[in-house]
Amino acid sequence: MSADLWRAQYYKCCYCERKIPEKFNDVEHYRPKGSAKRAPGCNQTHGYWWMAFDWQNLLFACPACNRSGKNDAFPLAAGSVSLQAEFSAPGAELPLLIDPSDLVNPVEHLEFFALRPSSSSSFDWWVRGRNGSLKGQTTIAVLKLNGMEYRETRRDYFDTSIKPAVIALDRALKEGHQARIDEAVDRARALLAPRLPYVAFSYDALNFLISSSRLLAAGVAGWPQLVDVGR
Ligand SMILES: [Zn+2]
Repeated sequence: MSADLWRAQYYKCCYCERKIPEKFNDVEHYRPKGSAKRAPGCNQTHGYWWMAFDWQNLLFACPACNRSGKNDAFPLAAGSVSLQAEFSAPGAELPLLIDPSDLVNPVEHLEFFALRPSSSSSFDWWVRGRNGSLKGQTTIAVLKLNGMEYRETRRDYFDTSIKPAVIALDRALKEGHQARIDEAVDRARALLAPRLPYVAFSYDALNFLISSSRLLAAGVAGWPQLVDVGR
């Protein structure tokens, strides 16, 4: 079971998109099986024990997200009625936590943005709800996705994978050499392949540092539309 989930999620944590070996990972229940904290929308605390082995309810999460972040949190929006035993999800529940297995693309709810601390020459990458997404904001708060450890992991990935691709593309665009531009665009776009970690982050970092209009001016297609990222 666990190995199947691991493969289905491209060996990535369902929440923070980091890649880690299967043996370090936990099967995560989107709807907690023991007890559930449903605030702010609902005060009932019964767990979803009948969904403990429901494939639709299982996700693969890294220890940081599963243990120190989510635990038994399952926030619902105001107006929700908690799902009762033996019924199928979602019923009248309006979850505020992004369901990574859902048809909803997490990229549409999470937006990464850069701050440059005065004491450092490199960016500090934070995340917020995209277009004010309450689902995004709640997921960030529950999992503490702006914690130091997550931000340092993002910074490392930026420095080793995104930055070199951006520098190569920026240089090719300045030179105006078409073959080099095409090659550099392909390299940067490869960062958005679903099998790679931090696809949502890469998307925002690429857009921030090299705009689609700059690509279009150079005669190449802009970055993909939001809805197509990570698919
Ligand atoms: Zn994680």
